[in-house]
Amino acid sequence: MITTIERDDLFPLCPHCKKEITTVWFRQLKPDLGKRCVYFCPQCRACLGISHRKGLIMGM
Ligand SMILES: [Zn+2]
Repeated sequence: MITTIERDDLFPLCPHCKKEITTVWFRQLKPDLGKRCVYFCPQCRACLGISHRKGLIMGM
């Protein structure tokens, strides 16, 4: 098992430019099945991740 520990005192580092991520920028992707966003670093614009929140239509 992996233990998770909440750290409110540290900011994560961007894996690309290694700067602290205190703000995350995002853009919405063109909707297909539900809204999805791409999150990116405001310093270097590297993609940090894409949300996979699906719509409620198909219950997926
Ligand atoms: Zn970056």
